[in-house]
Amino acid sequence: MKIFRHSSDLDACLSLKKSSGKTLGFVPTMGALHKGHLALIEQANKENDATIVSIFVNPTQFNNPEDLEKYPVQREKDIEMLCLQGCDILFLPRVQDIYPDGASRQNIYNLGSLDTTLEAKHRPGHFQGVCMVMEQLLKKVSPDRLYLGRKDYQQCLVISRLVEILHLAIEIKIIPIVREPSGLAMSSRNQRLTNEQRGVAPMLYASLNHIKEHRENSSCRELVKAGISRLCQSGFEVEYLVLATETLQLLDNFDAEENMILLTAARLGVIRLIDNLSI
Ligand code: AMP
Repeated sequence: MKIFRHSSDLDACLSLKKSSGKTLGFVPTMGALHKGHLALIEQANKENDATIVSIFVNPTQFNNPEDLEKYPVQREKDIEMLCLQGCDILFLPRVQDIYPDGASRQNIYNLGSLDTTLEAKHRPGHFQGVCMVMEQLLKKVSPDRLYLGRKDYQQCLVISRLVEILHLAIEIKIIPIVREPSGLAMSSRNQRLTNEQRGVAPMLYASLNHIKEHRENSSCRELVKAGISRLCQSGFEVEYLVLATETLQLLDNFDAEENMILLTAARLGVIRLIDNLSI
C-alpha cells in the first residue's frame, strides 16, 4: 500500500494510474477503522482497479470541540487493517493541505432542506463542513466511484447533492450498515462507550426494529412515542426518532406509497449515536 501525506505526491501517482485507464474507487474516512469501513473498501476493491482510502479528521464538520478533541486516533492499527484489506493507496492529508486558507467553516453550499432537518438541526453547520472537505477530497482524488455508508444516511444524500452541485462525474455507491452481533451499528465513537453504556447501546437499533415489526398493529405516533420513552428510561437522551421518506420528508403514518425509513439520533452520556432502518 502506498501512503501519501501531500496532495502533490498523490497527484503524480493518480495521474499515472488514470493515464493507463485504471478505474479508482474512493473511501473517505476519519480513521479509527472498523468492519463498517472495511465493507466499503471490500466493495470498492471488487468494482475498481484500485482503491484509495483517505483518513482525515475534518475539523470543520465538528460542532462540538470536545468531540473533535476526543475523536479516536489509531494510525498504526488503521494502516495494518488497510494493508490486510488490500487497499492500494492511503491518503493522509494535513489540515493545511485541505484548508490552505485556514479551517474555518463557511456557509457556501445550497443543500436545501437537507441542511435544516434532523442531523443538520442538531448539528448546525455540520454538513457545510462535510461538503467543504468532500469538495477538496473529490477534486484531489477524482475517483470513478465513491463509497459511502448508509449508517450516515443524511450524509449520503448531502454528498450526492454536492456531486450534483459540482457537476462531477462520480458514481456513488451506498453500502449497507455493518452492525455488532448485538445489533449496534458499528462506529468509531463506540470505542468511547463505557462497558455499562455498551450494554444499553443496542437498544437503539432494537427500538427501530420494534417500530418496524409492530407497524401493522399500532399507529406510528404511538410506536414512536413509546420507543422514545423506553430509550429515555434506559438512559438515552433522544434527539430525534422519526419516520421519513427516503428524501427525508417527515411522515406521521405508515401509509406513504414510497419507501420509508426510520431514523434516530440519541446520546448515551457524551457519546452521540445514530442509526436508521428502511421499511
Ligand atoms: P467515518 O470514518 O465515520 O467518517 O465514516 C467513513 C465512512 O464509513 C462513511 O461513509 C460512513 O457512513 C461509513 N461507515 C461508518 N460506519 C459504518 C457502518 N457501521 N456500516 C457501514 N458504513 C459505515
